[in-house]
Amino acid sequence: MSRVNLVGFLPAELEDLAVELGASPSQDGSRKLVYRFGDGNRISSVVMPDDDRITLCVSTQVGCGFECRFCLTGVMGLERNLTAGEIVGQVLGANRLLAPDQHVTHIVFMGMGEPLANYAALVTSLRILTDAKLGLGYSPRRITVSTVGLVPGIEKLGREALKVNLAISLHAASDEVRGPLMPVNRSFDLKTLLAALRRYPLAHRQRIFFEYVLLEDVNDSPDDAARLVRLLRGIRAKVNLIPFNDWEGAEFRRPPLPRILAFQSILLDAGLTTTVRWSKGEDIGAACGQLREPVPA
Ligand code: SAH
Repeated sequence: MSRVNLVGFLPAELEDLAVELGASPSQDGSRKLVYRFGDGNRISSVVMPDDDRITLCVSTQVGCGFECRFCLTGVMGLERNLTAGEIVGQVLGANRLLAPDQHVTHIVFMGMGEPLANYAALVTSLRILTDAKLGLGYSPRRITVSTVGLVPGIEKLGREALKVNLAISLHAASDEVRGPLMPVNRSFDLKTLLAALRRYPLAHRQRIFFEYVLLEDVNDSPDDAARLVRLLRGIRAKVNLIPFNDWEGAEFRRPPLPRILAFQSILLDAGLTTTVRWSKGEDIGAACGQLREPVPA
C-alpha cells in the first residue's frame, strides 16, 4: 500500500525508467541491473545476494567527477546527477525483478557517482527509503552512504539525524599517498576529514566504515597499516579492505594474498575490526570501481 503512495510521488521518473538485466548473473550470484533513462543515459545497480541478505548497490550520478585514479567510473567524468526518483527507482526496480518472496534487505550507496555531491537528491531518497508510512520503510541501519570524504556534506548529513551508516573511502593513511590517488584530498586533507569524523554523531553501537582499496606497492605495506592504525585511533571504526579490482588500462595491481592478509593482521592485532571484502560481480564488470556505462552520443 505504501508503495502505491510512493509511486504517486514519482510518476515521471518511473515511466521513464527501463531496466535491463546484465547479460548473465555472476558466478557468485550477483547481478548487474542497467537502467536506461529517458534522456538515453545509463547507470547500473548491483544486486548481491548473501545468505539471508540481499544487498543492492545503488548509483547517485551518471558517471562521477572525482577522478579517483583507481576507479573506472572516474574515467567517465560526470554527466549529471540522478533525481531522488531515479535513486529510489533502482530499489523499486530491483524488488520488482526479484522473486515474489524476495526483496532487497540492505542498500549501499556505492555505485556510480558521489552521493554527497548530489546532496539534495540523496537526502530526499533516504527519507523516502526510510519513511515507514509513505516510503519503503527501510531501517536506516540497513542503509550505508559512502563518500570520497566531502567534509561539508558529511557535517550536513550528521545534522539530518537520518541515522544511516556512513562509509569513507579512505584508501591511504597519509596525504602523500592519498593526494595522488584521490584529487579530492587537495580540498579536504586527512586532518580535516578525520577531525570531521571525530565529531560525527553516531548512534548507539554505530560505527564509521572505512574503505581501503589495496593497491600493490602503493598503499599495502606494513608501515601503511601501522599508519592507518594510528590515524583511526579513538574512532569507532570498521575497516573494509577491498583488494583492487582490475580494469583495462588501470595502472594498479592487486597485492598477492599473503600481503593482503598481513595488512589485515596488523589492523586486527591493534584491535581494529577489519574484514577483507572480496567484491562481488568481478566477472561481469559489476565489482567496486568497475561500473561504467556508455554515454549517449
Ligand atoms: N563515490 C563514493 C561512492 C562509490 S563507493 C565513494 O567513493 O565512496 C565505491 C567504492 O569502491 C569506493 O570505496 C571506491 O573507492 C572503491 N573502488 C573504486 N575503484 C575500485 C577498484 N578498482 N577496486 C576496488 N575498489 C574500488
